[in-house]
Amino acid sequence: MNSPIYLDHHATTPIAPEVLAAMMPFLTEQFGNAGSPHQYGWVADAAIKSARATIAQAINASPEEIIFTSGATEANNLAIKGVAEAYFSQGKHLVTIATEHSAVLGPCRYLESLGFEVTIVPVKPDGLVDLNVLEQALRSDTILVSVMVANNEIGVLQPIARIGKLCHDRQILFHSDAAQALGYVPLDVQAMQIDLMSLTAHKVYGPKGIGALYVRRRNPRVQLASQLQGGDQERSLRSGTLSPFQIVGFAKAVELAIAELPQESKRLAELRDQLLAGLSQNLGQDRFVINGSLNRRLSKNLNISIPNIDAAALTLALGQSIAISSGSACTSQSLKPSHVLQAIGLSPELALASIRFGLGRGTTAADIERTIEVVVEAVRVLG
Ligand SMILES: *Cc1c(COP(=O)(O)O)cnc(C)c1O
Repeated sequence: MNSPIYLDHHATTPIAPEVLAAMMPFLTEQFGNAGSPHQYGWVADAAIKSARATIAQAINASPEEIIFTSGATEANNLAIKGVAEAYFSQGKHLVTIATEHSAVLGPCRYLESLGFEVTIVPVKPDGLVDLNVLEQALRSDTILVSVMVANNEIGVLQPIARIGKLCHDRQILFHSDAAQALGYVPLDVQAMQIDLMSLTAHKVYGPKGIGALYVRRRNPRVQLASQLQGGDQERSLRSGTLSPFQIVGFAKAVELAIAELPQESKRLAELRDQLLAGLSQNLGQDRFVINGSLNRRLSKNLNISIPNIDAAALTLALGQSIAISSGSACTSQSLKPSHVLQAIGLSPELALASIRFGLGRGTTAADIERTIEVVVEAVRVLG
């Protein structure tokens, strides 16, 4: 049996062959602990130093501003809880938006249970935050604003640089979850005035289980309370033995993605447009709605709702031929309508009739043709 065509690149991506090759020595002979005072340790330490510099450079940061974590979930937790704990004497108010990933909303809810106040700013029907509404949510006791670069369900790109300016004009720290954006859109923590940024490797053809938090060290110098106590790795902000094979793989993945970003995002946009055109032609333009702004969006993403189609049944029916998701991978098993789709105004029924296409490096024009065919056929059968 042929493997299904993989169109779930928002959930995760395969490890690129170059990334695996870069990792292999550190899974075999080079097994040292980067903290050890001998040859094995020095080799690990040098590899991590070089990887840290690569990742920092990709976002226009300095190497000392990169704190390795297990991924974006941990980076979001460290950023939000770490800032709250370090700055609570200056204020106990945080601001975020309704379409954030649960790895941002979860820590915010946790802080509420500790007595912090969180304002969740709504988004417009196109998925973008209204800057005036966001500005009105900012208060003299606001210590942190957290707004993602790119949404993991509908792919929309928030006006990050303008949000960064709003925050910095008021001396409020700005955190951004860039898990879906790294390697897909240019990121620059200076130009975007970002103080903390969460990154992960596995959405960009790197290994699972590794990510980073960027923490600004000047203008302003961000204070952060560690969420792990123990060793003094990562300036004591994230204790635990560093994993050279994961870190080296992460850096290689970032290096490759940045090098091919302009051409690849153009190629993906063309494929996405081919998919949209094919669905429009064959299903009829009125048979589905596009969720989120079409032009302020990641080129790899298309999210549509097909009224009166149960998306869970549709993804199951397609499962032999194409691997797609009816929402975020973390919530699609729960059969609850997506909070992101409801935040852009979809009814629970329409939210449950949504499918997310996530295109990637391996996706070809032939894959898209086949996808159009099988989706159209499945909708005919189910609809
Ligand atoms: C995937 C994802 C996460 C979680 O990242 P992990 O590295 O898997 O913990 C967080 N935020 C967004 C927007 C994501 O897409």
